[in-house]
Amino acid sequence: MEVVEDVVIVGAGIAGLATAVALTRVGVKALVLERSDGLRATGAALILSRNAWLALDALGVSHKLNFMYPFIKEAYITNLESGAIQEISAARRASGNGGTRSRAVHRKALLETLAGELPTNSIRFSSKLTEIETESHLSSSIAVVHLEDRTVIKAKVLIGCDGVHSMVASSLGIAAPIHSGRSAVRGLAVFPQGHCLKDEMHQFIGTGRRAGLVPVNDKEIYWFFTCASPDKDLLSGDPRVIQREVIEKYAKDFPELYLDVVKHTDLSTLTWAPLMFRYPWNVAFGNLSKQNITVAGDAMHPMTPDLGQGGCAALEDAVVLGRHIATSILQNGGLDHAKMVETLANYIEERRWRATWLITWSYLTGWVQEGGSLWGLKFVRDAIFYGLIFKNIGSLMEYDCGKLPIFPFLEESD
Ligand SMILES: Cc1cc2nc3c(=O)[nH]c(=O)nc-3n(C[C@H](O)[C@H](O)[C@H](O)COP(=O)(O)OP(=O)(O)OC[C@H]3O[C@@H](n4cnc5c(N)ncnc54)[C@H](O)[C@@H]3O)c2cc1C
Repeated sequence: MEVVEDVVIVGAGIAGLATAVALTRVGVKALVLERSDGLRATGAALILSRNAWLALDALGVSHKLNFMYPFIKEAYITNLESGAIQEISAARRASGNGGTRSRAVHRKALLETLAGELPTNSIRFSSKLTEIETESHLSSSIAVVHLEDRTVIKAKVLIGCDGVHSMVASSLGIAAPIHSGRSAVRGLAVFPQGHCLKDEMHQFIGTGRRAGLVPVNDKEIYWFFTCASPDKDLLSGDPRVIQREVIEKYAKDFPELYLDVVKHTDLSTLTWAPLMFRYPWNVAFGNLSKQNITVAGDAMHPMTPDLGQGGCAALEDAVVLGRHIATSILQNGGLDHAKMVETLANYIEERRWRATWLITWSYLTGWVQEGGSLWGLKFVRDAIFYGLIFKNIGSLMEYDCGKLPIFPFLEESD
């Protein structure tokens, strides 16, 4: 069976669904191909900072989420070795309202909210991409997408939102991501009677280890733990074993508050993952688009989660890509296939350096925070990093990726 589509998006994660929503807003229907048999929400929750909420505003969906998730008002960092507690005042100052303007959100809720904005039959589940070919025509090219079930789909535009190990990215020749030498455990702790964190986020930092507690609402706390782990498969996949290892081995000297939260984990949410990233120079100078094919989200810029920016940046990508395609439609009176090469190249040029800096600062933040016990590194961390640099990194999370253009004909038909 052979089908021809205007836009095909591979992957129904944050990037893929948000990109499909952005295109829907500007009158373009996209087909989203997802290899799983439903929406995948690995990692339970994630922190969305101000840049993500601005992108969700542009996509017209922030109001469907923000009333469920309170702002994180205070954020504290405890140095496990010295016992010193630092308040992250930069975030407070940047917001001007005493809060961080970040919220922790259930991943499932985010994915379902985005998916709920799409026309029926926009997502095709159990559709694993296995091969990409290109057909060249006089002034344009077509991406030929082969699926595991032998379906062949021809796409005028192909957008790879297929995550860290993106097949679309490798078809563009972008170098594969690498293991950072660290891994992370994440989970959601449930307190049916309510927890005591209120709206405070806590981080705990020690040599080679970093952990955090982030309230999602008054009954659930998202927690994470990252540590140096040269072995990518350090822990087994059994959540009960992972929980025990965290409590009895990796974080055994952490404050009781932290251990108590880990003990309250809903084990169905607990996951362990090696932290991967792409070298920033591969993003700065790589072929992030070729002909009518490009990438967004982790497929473009996998980064360590030290600034909590991977998902936020995926939402930004969606808005920027939607805006470039919309501009092209407005200028050419419709989705002109031949103009898409230039349109995708313009999108990449707008995103390339932002993504490069996010990967770089995320990596450096993790390196400094979890760095060794050398006194020089501790001085860099406590005096220079938290004292001076961290305030400015906060502005990365305030970034406004802009709006989508309003299409008069779509407004009239509403
Ligand atoms: C420990 C940890 C903590 C994090 N914390 C935060 C945070 O607090 N805030 C934040 O913003 N970000 C955070 N991130 C990053 C965030 O999780 C990712 O950046 C985000 O999920 C990327 O979304 P995506 O849609 O690009 O990729 P993914 O979520 O990986 O989605 C890719 C989709 O493509 C599908 N797919 C893959 N291959 C194929 C194929 N061949 N055919 C069809 N479908 C395919 C997959 O099944 C999947 O559904 C964190 C990451 C980690 C590891």
